[in-house]
Amino acid sequence: MSAINAFLLKNNLRIATNPCVSPDFCLDWSALAGKLKSGAAGVKVYEKSRFATAAGDFVLLEDTSTGDCAWKLAARNTTVLADGEALGDGSTVFPATFANLLKLKNLAQEKNPASTIFPTAAEKLGQSTLGLGARFTTLHWPATEWAMSALSLGMTANQNSIPRELVYDVDVMLAGKLDTVPFPFIGTNVPEGHQGQSVEGMSHGCVLSKLKNGFHRRGIAWSFNADHQPIGGKFDNREDALVTGCVLASYITFDLSPELAQTKVADDAGAWVKANVPADLIAKVKARVASVGLTINEADFAKLLAYVWPSLQKMKRREEKYAAARAKLFTTDVGRAYLRELSIDELPGLTTPETTAIMLSLCEALGMRIHFVAPAFGFQKNMPFPDNAQLRALAEKQWAVCKQFGASIGFHSGSGKSAENYQVMGQVTGGRLEIKTSGRYTYEMGRALFASKNAADQALWRDWYKFTLDLAVLGAFSADATEQKMARVFITDALSKSGKGTDVFANPTATRAALESLSPSPEHMFWFEYNFLHVLAAGGRAEKSALGDHTPAGYQQRARFYTISDEGRLNFAKNVATYIVFLAENTGLANAPTCAATRKLLERYTTLAEMLNDISK
Ligand SMILES: [Zn+2]
Repeated sequence: MSAINAFLLKNNLRIATNPCVSPDFCLDWSALAGKLKSGAAGVKVYEKSRFATAAGDFVLLEDTSTGDCAWKLAARNTTVLADGEALGDGSTVFPATFANLLKLKNLAQEKNPASTIFPTAAEKLGQSTLGLGARFTTLHWPATEWAMSALSLGMTANQNSIPRELVYDVDVMLAGKLDTVPFPFIGTNVPEGHQGQSVEGMSHGCVLSKLKNGFHRRGIAWSFNADHQPIGGKFDNREDALVTGCVLASYITFDLSPELAQTKVADDAGAWVKANVPADLIAKVKARVASVGLTINEADFAKLLAYVWPSLQKMKRREEKYAAARAKLFTTDVGRAYLRELSIDELPGLTTPETTAIMLSLCEALGMRIHFVAPAFGFQKNMPFPDNAQLRALAEKQWAVCKQFGASIGFHSGSGKSAENYQVMGQVTGGRLEIKTSGRYTYEMGRALFASKNAADQALWRDWYKFTLDLAVLGAFSADATEQKMARVFITDALSKSGKGTDVFANPTATRAALESLSPSPEHMFWFEYNFLHVLAAGGRAEKSALGDHTPAGYQQRARFYTISDEGRLNFAKNVATYIVFLAENTGLANAPTCAATRKLLERYTTLAEMLNDISK
């Protein structure tokens, strides 16, 4: 048994209430196989999951008490996947391990290259899409499946940053050796993987969700974005682990910032470039930039090239590793294909059209097809862009370049923009765009619990709200200047929007009293900003040392979210779906009548089961 499965079993952290931590979706195969052989009750057969392979039809089974899953093949063949057990009815069952999932991908795609069980790079996914950060995994995916099905529109239906939000290697996690990520606004570093799920566990869970709900029957291609894959810098020594973990991702975002952070541009950039960058490549890039009607300033060009060249070489090496890993594991073209995004919004300042053109030309010259490029537009996370005319002008300049490279625009930090902002992005690009959203869905969970009449949901909401209030008060009096400043901004915003006085920082008691005079609400900025850290906070405590806790204490806290009521789940699913429809309509990816009909349908559901039942149509 793997170390992670032994850890989870020992601490009674089961998949049913703590999904996607292990890469496997079966922790205890001997127990489940025993149940299946004896025909014991409590195993659900997902009839909608049925799919064909050359070895026969498979369906998904689940022990509903533990969440452990198995595959049932309608034939006697114990070797097509690992650890098969023959049943008396002539069928064979297999544990839902990550290794078996990889084999099933080949079996499914060899039989039907148009299969939509697994994430792919097919159809229009490389041109227009919505990036849907899946912070609450199994609670989140059904809503995205429903929205894609109702709108008949494929999307990036699984997305998270790795290793920032997801655990990139469960063994490193168990050894207590995960790196940390600085969060200046809370004045501390939090361990990576602050949502608790592993990248493989999430890769696994998003596929099983499609099968459980019969989404794959709709034939809508969807993608999985391994977001902000860090290139170079301190990530050099674990790039092989990143590549292995992301092998089911059908879409890679390359983030050069770790290497850029440690790149020192030579005083004489021109001489450095001459000595280090192949002359024919420079010539190619210059010609390509000229072909899109832009002029290169030699000095700026040399400086940019000296700055990005080390990171681009590392990106190219990483690219080769992603491709090689897929070529090794997967047998079909569709199974090996993936999309690429170049994230350049981490470069300093607003991105100029020249910079975008140079970066895209460099990728072309390096033989890397880029589907999305993410320039910096000066977006603040979760804030509308204040000036639509300015946004239009910025986007038009970028689009004039991108379209000539066949690249769509990725809008990063895309959550929480105004309807008009999204309309501008959609109009300017003709829908050739991706809006990345993630933090929004944690907010939607808060709204779902806040609105729920279930007592346990309300208790979780109150604890969650208090956690953020406590962090805000602590932060407001921190010795760390950034932390203090940000906490006071969040507090002042909440107070002033509620019509209260904001002169409340005489002492912590006064600040706390002011915050406690507010009616708890997921609309308060301090709740919004601190909320995501509650998921894996040991004991739910508002202490820096409790954040991002990968011990049983952190995962017991995480289980509270996965045991919310059916009412809470329905609220959350409706909220997520509503937001996706809003994005699709305003960006123009779906038309207004379709979106109106979809919203009407959504309003009608009174149970989650009704909603989920409509996914397969
Ligand atoms: Zn980015």
